Amino acid sequence: MDAYVLEKVEEKIRGRNLRARQNLNERKKALFSSHPELKALEDSKRLIICDPRINKDEKTAKINEIDKKINAYLSERNIVMPEIKYFCPICSDTGYVTKNGTVERCSCFTKLIIKESNTDDSAIENQNFDNFDENIFAPEIRQDIIKIRDYCKKYTESFPNVKRPNTVLCGNTGTGKTFLLSCIYHELKKKGHSVIFITAGKLFDILRKYAFNKINDIDVLISADMLIIDDMGTEPVFNNITLEYTFMLINERVRNNKPICISTNLTPDEIKARYTERIASRILDKNTTYILPLKGEDLRLK
Ligand SMILES: [Zn+2]
Repeated sequence: MDAYVLEKVEEKIRGRNLRARQNLNERKKALFSSHPELKALEDSKRLIICDPRINKDEKTAKINEIDKKINAYLSERNIVMPEIKYFCPICSDTGYVTKNGTVERCSCFTKLIIKESNTDDSAIENQNFDNFDENIFAPEIRQDIIKIRDYCKKYTESFPNVKRPNTVLCGNTGTGKTFLLSCIYHELKKKGHSVIFITAGKLFDILRKYAFNKINDIDVLISADMLIIDDMGTEPVFNNITLEYTFMLINERVRNNKPICISTNLTPDEIKARYTERIASRILDKNTTYILPLKGEDLRLK
């Protein structure tokens, strides 16, 4: 995630805010065109608000009087004054909310950041079970890969009622891990689940920036029905703060029974060494995670 992404997201939210206000004006205009009396009342109210010669108390009294007339007019005809409809009612399309006195980014902001950062979406577009071709795998490993594919397929069919909610696909680069994760992604999205597909590099970058900004807005990463992390182990080595946030995220998800699917070129021991014992213990717990080893060499080099 870079400054460009942040700018784009902020622009999008400003656009939402503007559209909400434009939309309100249009609906008011339509109402006023068929009820000119209402428009006259609204106009007289505006004149009073802007009149510097009237003192505050007098203003309030006069406005109340007009509001009463407006309400009477509306209820007599059984109509309502249009209200603003925000895309995100939580933050009124500002992107920020105040929680316990501190300003935080709204989850809609985070959602957009993830969407904007997730440029791989088009790259995985056609990677689904229908396009899975076992014949590209070497004959000696073909049966294994078919078993793994079948497991992933059954997993998505039973989701979320699966025995082991988490899946870790281990194997060398180019052995089909991303393809299988994409299959899971598309299948769960088709079923209407909220799924985040993100490369480890981008995920850790988001966590690092959030830790740095002291802004806790990773709600969407915690609450999505499924979090798919692609390519763990290939991202640049990161600091303790990022590890802390990574643990928090994984722990929160595991605690709330929110599944995670991971692909990695690391062995379980290497995962421990790189991400600490406590992160490894969460994602490699045999009771909750099915570890699928993918054999073979890099298909892309063939
Ligand atoms: Zn919001």
